[in-house]
Amino acid sequence: MTELEELRKRIEKITIEMLSLLKTRTEIAQAIGKIKKKEGMSISNESREDELRELVKNQCKKIDFDSNTALKFLNYLLNESVKIQSSESKTHLAIFLKAKELEQKGKKIIHLEVGEPDFQPPINVKNALSEVYDKGFGKYGPVKGLPEFRKKLVEFVNKNFNTEINSENIMVTPGARFGVFLSITTLLDPGDEIIMIEPAWPAYRQCAINSGIKVRSVKTTLENKWEPDIDEISSCVNDNTKMIVLNYPNNPTGKILPEILQDAIVEIAKKHDLYILSDEIYSNYSNGEWKSILSYNYERTIVTQSFSKSHSMTGYRIGYLISSQIIVERLAKLQALCLTNVSEPIQYAAMKSLDDDVTKNVKIMKERLAKLEEICEEMGLEFVKPDGAMYIFARTRNPINTSELSEELLNHGVAIAPGIGFGDYNEFFRISACLDIQTLIEGMDILKTRL
Ligand code: PMP
Repeated sequence: MTELEELRKRIEKITIEMLSLLKTRTEIAQAIGKIKKKEGMSISNESREDELRELVKNQCKKIDFDSNTALKFLNYLLNESVKIQSSESKTHLAIFLKAKELEQKGKKIIHLEVGEPDFQPPINVKNALSEVYDKGFGKYGPVKGLPEFRKKLVEFVNKNFNTEINSENIMVTPGARFGVFLSITTLLDPGDEIIMIEPAWPAYRQCAINSGIKVRSVKTTLENKWEPDIDEISSCVNDNTKMIVLNYPNNPTGKILPEILQDAIVEIAKKHDLYILSDEIYSNYSNGEWKSILSYNYERTIVTQSFSKSHSMTGYRIGYLISSQIIVERLAKLQALCLTNVSEPIQYAAMKSLDDDVTKNVKIMKERLAKLEEICEEMGLEFVKPDGAMYIFARTRNPINTSELSEELLNHGVAIAPGIGFGDYNEFFRISACLDIQTLIEGMDILKTRL
């Protein structure tokens, strides 16, 4: 046997050994998942993961192997375990789909689980859609969006978010969800780490896990008014950390961070060259002081925005992202690969909707939230008054399993979002203010009878 053949044989042997080890590992992860579920334990355990990290680092020293590479591989394995163990977790989307199924069978359901404003889109949308045919919008177009739309978005962004961007900094996306997906998938590699402040909209975590990226969650509490501990964020950063996700006004808590805290987070990101993915889709539903991350002029920022909530255009699937020209170019490549371009008729309609005044909707949402707050207080629920967005994230004084509650409530005609979808918050639930006050009262009346 030549030397090359011998080496190839050894690689073969190691590969086969690795496969059987991976199989055993998967089986053990599944068994651990079952125990955790039975005991009501959370899937991720940061301190246990830190122990494993230390173990890997020490072993690397012993065998003289690059610890960064090894830690990336560990992240990959940890991520696989989380994927295996979280396959059964319920998000509000699962409840929404179940509610829809029941509705098809004729059951009446009040939807308090979904963040979909019940307002009609602005009237300019209707007019614009009647024009697109004659105007010839309907061909393949530029991947970053219609030039006239991007130009108008630039004016809109500069006017509203205290920044000075130009067309190169903006790309139209089919909703903020796709902007989030593009950012996480393009800018991070498998084994990299992303910091998330929880409770959080589930898609950030799902996108990361889907791409083999390790999520480091910084948990916040109702007792601390949903404010993250800045030292905890700092201590999460290591050589593999590449991004921090922010979402203020927040879904599900409605929190807006105090400026000084937000400043400190941006400082950490700058110090470690982290990307900041700031999902600002609830910005126009801010009832307190709110400052866009764009105003820091940090070149590694990506802001996602949408017409879904601001213009009540959820089903149109239209949004945009703002970043440095270099990052936009990188994200545009994946968008081109996936979509070619966002539907032009929809872009045209969204462009025209920028001329509409949507402040009326914002006012209505604020009134509804105030009513929900009043009812929640009467019910003795515990929650922090939201500073914005369109939700209340609450728990009962005696903790209950809200995954079970949300299943049970469907049979009684109301859907709520269980807290588990937003992180390790099984005793919380989210109710949204996206229906008229009378229907909200009806839904809350049903909820009252089950608590
Ligand atoms: N970000 C957050 C925080 C959300 O709550 C949602 C939808 N609920 C989205 C993004 C998705 O927005 P879009 O409809 O624009 O994809």
